[in-house]
Amino acid sequence: MEKEIKVRFAPSPTGPFHIGGARSALFNWLVARHTGGKFLVRIEDTDLNRSTKESEENIKESLRWLGLNWDEGIDVGGENGPYRQTERLNIYQKEIQRLIREGKAYYCYCSQEELEQERQEQLKEGKTPVYGGHCRHLTEEQIAQYRAEGRKPVVRLHVPEGEVIAFDDMVRGHVEFQSSGVGDFIIMKSDGIPVYNFAVVVDDALMGITHVIRAEEHLSNTPRQIAIYHALGYKVPEFGHISLILGADHKKMSKRHGATSVTAYKDMGYLPDAVVNYLALLGWAPKGEQEIFSREELIRSFSMSRVSSNDAVFDMEKLNWINFQYMKKLSEEELLDFVLPFLEKAGYVTQPLSAEKRDWLRQVVCYVRDRISYGAQAPEQVKMFFEEIPPFEDPEVVSILKQDSSAVILKAFIDALEALPDFTEEAVTACFKAIMKETGIKGRAAFEPARIALTGVTKGPGMYEMIVLFGREKTLALLRKALAFCEAE
Ligand code: GLU
Repeated sequence: MEKEIKVRFAPSPTGPFHIGGARSALFNWLVARHTGGKFLVRIEDTDLNRSTKESEENIKESLRWLGLNWDEGIDVGGENGPYRQTERLNIYQKEIQRLIREGKAYYCYCSQEELEQERQEQLKEGKTPVYGGHCRHLTEEQIAQYRAEGRKPVVRLHVPEGEVIAFDDMVRGHVEFQSSGVGDFIIMKSDGIPVYNFAVVVDDALMGITHVIRAEEHLSNTPRQIAIYHALGYKVPEFGHISLILGADHKKMSKRHGATSVTAYKDMGYLPDAVVNYLALLGWAPKGEQEIFSREELIRSFSMSRVSSNDAVFDMEKLNWINFQYMKKLSEEELLDFVLPFLEKAGYVTQPLSAEKRDWLRQVVCYVRDRISYGAQAPEQVKMFFEEIPPFEDPEVVSILKQDSSAVILKAFIDALEALPDFTEEAVTACFKAIMKETGIKGRAAFEPARIALTGVTKGPGMYEMIVLFGREKTLALLRKALAFCEAE
């Protein structure tokens, strides 16, 4: 029987969780869920200077927010723990000692200056700079001498020369490297901390990872890692290196292109399902034209064989469109709860809300829902319900209000609304239609002054519905103010 597929996500907690990391996590998660395999999460914190607890928390929180649950690993546990690399140093140490005993790795006492000199000489001769193997076969005396000098050794892997290191990448196809271009590289630094390439191999091997799916930037690490697998005698897993995410200008996605952290998208009011849907399409090409995929559909359809080796371009408009599709599926109550924090932040509402206020707010939010692609856009769209209209100064606005017909229509509308028994959308609509007929002022000449009076601008969502949501008092106050402007000299 085929061995169960086991994939992993192994972030370094050195900053806010990047959207590219989220995509790597998602592809792994989808492979696990599609095949009924396992998804593991491990924290790679051997870079002691850059790793922080805060970043680790942010990564885990973001993964949970995206709904990318893991079966084994940090916080959830499992048989192969611990799952934080700084807690596994004794395991790496044991494997290093084994390699040294077996003659596959050795201590190297070369100083920085000596290495630099060697490098310069190789460059001068037009060679690729690799470690020349000076410490590969040191005598006892030489070692004693170096120790006496107080040199602290690193450990290097003895990489067999003249070999071809090849593998079939799930995304990139056949890839080959020459081992002589790799040289005997460092696997443990003088402080006893293994380098990334070593720790990652030991962990993937001991944790039973069958498929390593990660960012393209690690492709060049893969030959070193394969050399370590061979030395340790572990089975080499399958590799899949997914392309970079680029900004709209086709340069590597960075802060310049907008938000790059998962938290930023959460804070801007994107829905986790929409972000997952969008990230899945960044590099994966589904069959057919479908673009909106539920989680179940993604799990069913996702396949690494349809992941492209071309760079993926992050398209904000598309993300907004997808998020809009997901927001459309929210019920009125869900939508209100989703945008409430943004309205609170804008200072438009304070909790707790009375049932009546909540009911009104729900209608207000639903009234503009077609204009909101993500939560943070909500305050701008509802601001006419909460903020004063700025003075009429725009030349176009002023010229419309100064037309004689504007005062006529506003006056007639005020009189009619004052007398209106039911302040409902149907009644207000019928009322405005009646005064258009009565005054003979129609179309833009009728609507524009009314809209300007109510919102300060000539365009916006449905006027009658807005009037009802404003209520009689506010509507009349606004119409009277505009009428006074029309009539002023
Ligand atoms: N810790 C590495 C990183 O965050 C990932 C290593 C890997 O996936 O092999 O880039």
